[in-house]
Amino acid sequence: MASVPQDHLEPVLLDHLRSFGTARVAMGIEVVGLDGRSDDVQVTLRDVETGETRIVHARYLIAADGARSTIRDALGIAMRGPGRLSQAIGTEFRAPLWDLLGGPRYCIYAVTHPDAAGVFVPAGRGDRWVYGVEHDLAQEPAPRLTKEQSARLIRLGIGLTDLEPRVDRIGTFTFAAQLADRWREGAAFLVGDAAHQITPRGGTGMNTAIQSAYDLGWKLAWVLRGWAGPQLLDTYEAERRPVAAHNVARSADPHGGARLAAHELPADLGGRIPHVWLPSRANAVSTLDLLGPGLTLFTTDPSASWQRAASSVPGPPLVVRNLDAITARGMGIPHGGALLARPDGAPAGWWPSRTEPDAALRHAIRALPTPSEAVDRSAEGASAR
Ligand SMILES: Cc1cc2nc3c(=O)[nH]c(=O)nc-3n(C[C@H](O)[C@H](O)[C@H](O)COP(=O)(O)OP(=O)(O)OC[C@H]3O[C@@H](n4cnc5c(N)ncnc54)[C@H](O)[C@@H]3O)c2cc1C
Repeated sequence: MASVPQDHLEPVLLDHLRSFGTARVAMGIEVVGLDGRSDDVQVTLRDVETGETRIVHARYLIAADGARSTIRDALGIAMRGPGRLSQAIGTEFRAPLWDLLGGPRYCIYAVTHPDAAGVFVPAGRGDRWVYGVEHDLAQEPAPRLTKEQSARLIRLGIGLTDLEPRVDRIGTFTFAAQLADRWREGAAFLVGDAAHQITPRGGTGMNTAIQSAYDLGWKLAWVLRGWAGPQLLDTYEAERRPVAAHNVARSADPHGGARLAAHELPADLGGRIPHVWLPSRANAVSTLDLLGPGLTLFTTDPSASWQRAASSVPGPPLVVRNLDAITARGMGIPHGGALLARPDGAPAGWWPSRTEPDAALRHAIRALPTPSEAVDRSAEGASAR
């Protein structure tokens, strides 16, 4: 587990996005209007500084515009569930707490002092922290605190009367546990907080958002590349909604943040292939790093019969990964057997031996959600093998 503050994570995500030759990142541009039809979405954009507007047309639109999604409203999609469960005050401050706490370090420190109950969360390098205090809206709204009042509460919570925290920011936010009625309208898809609002309890809001974005991303890529029919996109909400619903319900539970990992892992990882480090000591490479944009076939078969079958079966691009015996053992692949995985690591087939690899692969690929009838045999597909 890692405690990564938003202002550390966002530059990493932005750099990654900018690394794609086909992606253009435009800051200071907001969506102010939408006219969506199933085969052409028309979006009105406004430059926040100049006020200039322009219209762009898109084959698909992903609404990742957060809890107050303009796009969701324009599509007429309602949210269901409690919108005001409680309120919390988050105070960002600096104070030398690590020396005080010693090791081992944790991601969250809960304080039960009756006058300062809350959580201290490390928020980046050095001694930067967030102190969060929840207020039950049925009792009272969260008070507006001055920096000095916040510092006093922090001293009380930490238990050091002479601590001099430097309070940088105080913010108030409302806990909501809601799901959008539907996540798709024609060619527009909701993702992240636009589709679900999850309270910070359990820390699953962004994690759910990123996993859902990944799910939608690979499915859109398959459809746009002709590797699957457009019905594949219907599986986005079908597969991701139960996870979001679970995390929304968990986060509405006042004790939802304290659940056992063993109970929550099925929702988080959902049968994904295991993470196993490959034996090379030079680079830390996981079996998860071997997943590609198409299908990935993991095997230990020295006879190359899976390799031969993989190069002849119709379907999306299929990369074969030959594993050493111990890594394969860690993934539950017996000698001569194989495991077929989707880009998100969900298994699409598992075979304990090399019995008829060709028939086995054809059957597994046919059973995928709506593989394209018209198989793309472009250079892109062929070179991935
Ligand atoms: C105090 C707190 C602690 C949290 N802790 C955790 C945690 O530990 N772990 C975790 O997984 N999650 C956590 N979350 C939840 C997490 O922050 C959200 O789930 C996550 O940020 C959702 O990402 P998003 O991209 O969907 O929405 P957002 O992060 O809200 O991003 C939406 C973006 O869209 C932009 N936008 C909005 N409207 C428009 C428009 N009309 N045009 C153009 N752009 C627009 C916004 O400016 C914003 O940049 C926490 C939330 C809070 C409040």
